[in-house]
Amino acid sequence: MKSIQKKIFILITLFALISCSNNKYYTVKKGDTLYSISKKNDVSIEELKEINKLKNNLLYSGQKIYIRSSNNYKGSYHIVRSGDTLYSISKKYNVTVKDLKKINDLKDNTLFKNNKIYLGKLISKKDLNYSSTSITTYEDNYKNSILKNFKQPLKEMTVTSPFGYRVHPVLGRKILHTGVDLRASMNTPVYSPYGGIIIYAGWMSGYGKIIIIDNGSSYETRFAHLNRILVKKGQRVAKGKVIGKSGKTGRVTGPHLHYEIKYKEQPINPMNL
Ligand SMILES: [Zn+2]
Repeated sequence: MKSIQKKIFILITLFALISCSNNKYYTVKKGDTLYSISKKNDVSIEELKEINKLKNNLLYSGQKIYIRSSNNYKGSYHIVRSGDTLYSISKKYNVTVKDLKKINDLKDNTLFKNNKIYLGKLISKKDLNYSSTSITTYEDNYKNSILKNFKQPLKEMTVTSPFGYRVHPVLGRKILHTGVDLRASMNTPVYSPYGGIIIYAGWMSGYGKIIIIDNGSSYETRFAHLNRILVKKGQRVAKGKVIGKSGKTGRVTGPHLHYEIKYKEQPINPMNL
C-alpha cells in the first residue's frame, strides 16, 4: 500500500513539474495592468504582448497571461558574425549558453556565419548589435578544440581551407582534404603542438618538405609544404618546440602550413578533437 502511495505521489509531482515548466502564466486580477505584470515578473511589456499576441494593452480579470512559454517562444535573434561564440552571445544578451542551445536546438557549440541565434526574449533594436568583427567562429571553434589536445602549430591560427572534401586548387578535382590549411607566410615558425617522436622528416610527393610526428596513443601529426626542417628522424620533441619553418614546397599555389592529424592511420578533422 505504502509503495503505491509513493508511486502516485511521484507521478503527481512529475505531472506538476511538467505543467509548471510548460505553462508559466499569470492570472489577471482586478487592477492589474501590463505594466504592473511586467514589473512583477521582470518581463518587458513588448515581450508580454508578443508572447500573448495582444493587439492592445487591455486586460480583463481572470485572463491568463503567459510570462514565458519556454518551449516555443524564440524572441529576438542575433545574426552570427565573425568572432561570435555562444559564450559571447550569452554574455551580450544575458542568456545562458544552455538556454541558447535549447532554444536554437543546437547539438554543439559550432556557429555558422549569418545564422540566426534566437535569444528566447525580446531585445530592443538598439541593443541588437550586428557589427562585431574579428576572426571567424570556425576558427574560434577550431582553436578551442585543438588547444585542448594538440596545441596550435602556429602562433596565429587562421584556417584558409578546412578539412573535408573540396575541389583541389591545383588538381582541379574533388578530393578529401586530409588536414587544415593555416595561413602562414614564408618561414613562419612551426611548433610541435604536442610531444612525440619524429618518424619522418624529408620530402614526400604532394606534401613537399614534411615532418611527421608520432604522438603516441595512435595519434600522428603532419606538417607539410615546409621551407625548412629543423628536426631529424628519431628525435624526441616536446610540446611547443620549433620544428620547422613554413613554406610552399610540394603541390601548392602559395605558402601556407598544411596541418594534419591522423588517428589509427585515418585522417581526422582537427576541429573535432
Ligand atoms: Zn592542405
